[in-house]
Amino acid sequence: CGSGYHSVGSSSLDSTNENEIPKYRVVLLGESGVGKTALVSQFMTSEYMNTYDASLDDEFGERTVSVLLDGQESEMVFIDHPASEMSVENSLSTYEPHACIVVYSITARSTFQTAEDILNYLWKEDCIKDKSVIVVGNKADLARSRVISQNEGKGLAVAKDCKFIETSSGIQHNVDELLVGILKQIRLRESLEKK
Ligand code: GDP
Repeated sequence: CGSGYHSVGSSSLDSTNENEIPKYRVVLLGESGVGKTALVSQFMTSEYMNTYDASLDDEFGERTVSVLLDGQESEMVFIDHPASEMSVENSLSTYEPHACIVVYSITARSTFQTAEDILNYLWKEDCIKDKSVIVVGNKADLARSRVISQNEGKGLAVAKDCKFIETSSGIQHNVDELLVGILKQIRLRESLEKK
C-alpha cells in the first residue's frame, strides 16, 4: 500500500536505529473545512510537545513536532493536504505514512460520507492492515448542530477495524488524547512487527 516518500534516501527517516529519534509520518485525510489544519495547530500546544521544528515548512503542508511520551521521544510529521490538490491514493504513495487520520465534522453529513469513502478505499487497498488508521469526528463543541451521533461515528470505525475519537479543536477537547493515541497506535504496531 503506497511506495516511496519524496525524500527517502536519508536513513534518519526510519526508526530502525535504536539511537535515533524515530520519525513518523501522519497524513490527515478528509473533506476541506472539517478542521484538519486546526487540529494540527492544536497539537503544537500539547503538553506532550517537546519541541516544535518551526523550520519545517508550511509550503508542503507539513509540520513536525517532537513528542515526549512514556519517557521516549518521537518526531511526528503531520501532512495536511487539501483533498482537491492530492487524491488519497497519491497522498499515500507519496508519503508512505505510518498512520492516517480520517477526519469528518459531526455537523455535516457530506463530510461523514467522504470519510466513509476514504475508509472504503483504504480497506479495499489493504492499507488498514499495514498502518494505523484513526477516525476522528471533529467539531464536537457544536452540539446543537450535530447530525452524526457518536454511535454512528464509532460504528463506521469499528466496521473498518479503526480507532475512533471525537474531538474539538475549538475547545481543545480530546486533542491531546488524539495526539497520544496516534503515537501509541504507531508504537504498538511497530512493536508487534518486530516480533
Ligand atoms: P480544514 O480545511 O480541514 O483544514 O479545516 P480548517 O482547520 O481550516 O477549519 C475550517 C473551519 O472550521 C475554520 O473556520 C475553523 O475555525 C473551524 N473549526 C475547526 N475545528 C473546529 C472545532 O472543533 N469546532 C468549531 N466550532 N470550529 C472548528
